[in-house]
Amino acid sequence: LIAVKHLKKTFEKNEVLKDINGEINAGQVVCIIGPSGSGKSTLLRCINQLERPTSGIVDFDGTDLVQESDQDLAKLGEKIGMVFQNFNLFPNMSVISNLKLAPMRVKGLSDEEATKIGMKYLTSVGLADKAEAYPNSLSGGQKQRVAIARALAMEPQVLFFDEPTSALDPENVGEVLKVMKTLADGTMTMVVVTHEMNFAKQVSDEIWFMADGVIQEKNTPAELFTNPQNPKTQDFIGKVL
Ligand code: ATP
Ligand code: MG
Repeated sequence: LIAVKHLKKTFEKNEVLKDINGEINAGQVVCIIGPSGSGKSTLLRCINQLERPTSGIVDFDGTDLVQESDQDLAKLGEKIGMVFQNFNLFPNMSVISNLKLAPMRVKGLSDEEATKIGMKYLTSVGLADKAEAYPNSLSGGQKQRVAIARALAMEPQVLFFDEPTSALDPENVGEVLKVMKTLADGTMTMVVVTHEMNFAKQVSDEIWFMADGVIQEKNTPAELFTNPQNPKTQDFIGKVL
């Protein structure tokens, strides 16, 4: 579904991504792990073009997104969903209004259609009873489940997560990981930047270990965690497990 080739990103003189290559197949779950500052968020943002790469190719379903105009990219939000660390919900709107917004504005659905789809995904994350609530009345875990439902309501081809549980109180982490695990066990294609190693182990088809702007090692969780090849991976795994 996605093929990244020779992707580079430089901020000023800081080369943050150095020749990144990788593929994400439909239905796969790829987790990206690595130390702070290694370029994980920048990689996600360069794939979905929230950040424009300096060079390289991001082939999405046969189209090179790097070559697309900003105007063409406006439609990309329908195809690639994103869940952020800090939820990014609109605080002045009810939960269901948060879910309806993009399907109505971007996809042109009617209020009725958007409500139906919104309620479907709100139900799927166990929060149908919070439809009329405002984000500020929810726990962090509930907010993040709403954010996931909002991304799902666009029925994207792939979902990106950037440290979706890092901002949560420990008691809220489990409920979010559970929702993500259910998605991963289904047919959803997912790319997840995470520090939750047990989650990565359980759900990943492949793990990419990043350090210093390079994917140092790419492997199945079984191999990567028990038999890391690269000294940088060994060092990181040794610290986090
Ligand atoms: P963390 O685990 O802390 O989230 P990360 O692996 O996601 O780290 P990035 O946020 O991708 O790392 O940052 C990688 C490097 O790129 C850092 O040195 C950061 O300062 C730099 N960087 C990221 N975004 C920008 C930007 N918009 N302008 C300038 N430098 C940036
Ligand atoms: Mg980051």
